[in-house]
Amino acid sequence: MQALMMDMPLLISSILQHAARHFGDVEIVSRRTEGDIHRTDYKTLERRSRRLADALQRRGAQNGDRIGTLAWNNYRHMEVYYAAGGMGGVVHTVNPRLHPDQIAWIVNHAGDSFLAFDLTFLPIIEAIAPQCPNVKAWIPMVDRDRQPTSDKIPNLLNYEELLESGSEDYRWPTLDERSAVGLCYTSGTTGNPKGALYSHRSSVLHAYGAALPDAMGASARDTILPVVPMFHVNAWGIPYVAPMVGAKLVFPGPSLDGKSLYELFESEKVTYSAGVPTVWLGLLQYVRENKLRFSTFARTVIGGSACPPSMIRAFQDEYGVEVIHAWGMTETSPLGTLCRLQAKHLDLPKEQQEKILEKQGHVVFGIDLKIVDDDNQEVPWDGKSFGNLLARGPWVVKEYFRGEGGDPLVYDEDGEGWFPTGDVATIDPDGYMHITDRSKDVIKSGGEWISTIDLENIAISHPSIANAAVIGVPHPKWDERPLLVVVREPGADVSREDLLAFYEGKIAKWWTPDDVQFVESIPLGATGKILKTRLREQFADYKLPTA
Ligand code: AMP
Repeated sequence: MQALMMDMPLLISSILQHAARHFGDVEIVSRRTEGDIHRTDYKTLERRSRRLADALQRRGAQNGDRIGTLAWNNYRHMEVYYAAGGMGGVVHTVNPRLHPDQIAWIVNHAGDSFLAFDLTFLPIIEAIAPQCPNVKAWIPMVDRDRQPTSDKIPNLLNYEELLESGSEDYRWPTLDERSAVGLCYTSGTTGNPKGALYSHRSSVLHAYGAALPDAMGASARDTILPVVPMFHVNAWGIPYVAPMVGAKLVFPGPSLDGKSLYELFESEKVTYSAGVPTVWLGLLQYVRENKLRFSTFARTVIGGSACPPSMIRAFQDEYGVEVIHAWGMTETSPLGTLCRLQAKHLDLPKEQQEKILEKQGHVVFGIDLKIVDDDNQEVPWDGKSFGNLLARGPWVVKEYFRGEGGDPLVYDEDGEGWFPTGDVATIDPDGYMHITDRSKDVIKSGGEWISTIDLENIAISHPSIANAAVIGVPHPKWDERPLLVVVREPGADVSREDLLAFYEGKIAKWWTPDDVQFVESIPLGATGKILKTRLREQFADYKLPTA
């Protein structure tokens, strides 16, 4: 029997329309690339997005066209999200931290027809424009009087001029909720980058899921500052979640250093944030050095790579900021799990609660997880058994853009497809998932797995260590043994022996790294994660003293 309910498609344009109608005067504050602070609101953002959509269509943008962006977090970037997606096109957010050749490859693979960019990235655009013949116009997102000129870029259109050429009478079209709305390429440490193509339906459902109280739990009383870039999996969905719930938004633009962030947190009374661990290192260092306090900052989501327990404790115990450790990936839109306590945990001693909060957490309704062995047999949820992590749900990819890499899914006996995350994890009886490694980074010593994340977390909790990474290096007897690579805090003189002794009593003895190497810096990838591939190359000729 067919139900008798209205058939309204789930569209991202309806999120913005909702915000304009019900939270019209709620502010969106941006630190602009131009350097100043800019203020707008949801009503204006919706109107400008509509004009931009109309203007793009007048310039020939059609249904399904990919509109590229190379931009920081700011209101114009959000307008392009809604204009491109709302009109039936696809916003393709490109990571500007990639090499220009890779950017050109991605722009061409995506088939972008327009590309909007922040002025910071003009040199990249100059380098790639000759290689990207499909792009009809390059759009610097600046005021008219700052419009650049360049003889290397064929068709430069000023963003504000373009927007003003669109009509305010434009109406958002009713689209198929399964049509594409966003495209984001994975970091691709091996092979070509692959595109995750999100739908209206997946983006709206993801935003609902993300907004749930035990997920991000954002509300109309929050002021959210996404530090996570809008070019990294849609800033984890915040540009959709914030207008859905009516939260004020604060965009940090290009200034992600501790001082700039702190000033914005305070001046705009930010309550909520989200970002990868590396940016929080900078902020924590700044507030510590300057003996500062946060007056309104209450909660932050930390994910993208494992959040060291020492960082969780620093935020919670020293600054009263609740840390929500989260796991996800480009292919899961990205939210998969978030870590919050349940009623049954509330009477546990603090140390046991802390142990739970270090995990990557519990699924959000919509996502299902399982862990399997190399023969695809399910591994028990006992909190100890490691397995390859598989995920499924309405906001998980079933295939990559243009079929790149073939069918990625793993099928169970019932023929249900699961996305292999490439992560290795345990799941405890309460369903809390704990990532122990990327499958490519796992160390196998004498046939047993050692978690590099656990070893790194311990090293980082040492007061003299600024950053740490663990890689496996060949060993004649054990196949592989862990090598700890660390960056000392400025002025600290901790020794190899001190560090190795620091592991005593914290892990099984045979997990202790075989050696320590001190370096000036650890290579980071385009989304701020440690590039273990690069690190392994760096230590390709290294021999363990135990070998
Ligand atoms: P990306 O698609 O670039 O966002 O990368 C996704 C990958 O980042 C995941 O498959 C994990 O390996 C890693 N990751 C994300 N969040 C976490 C986390 N909280 N702890 C450990 N690894 C994480």
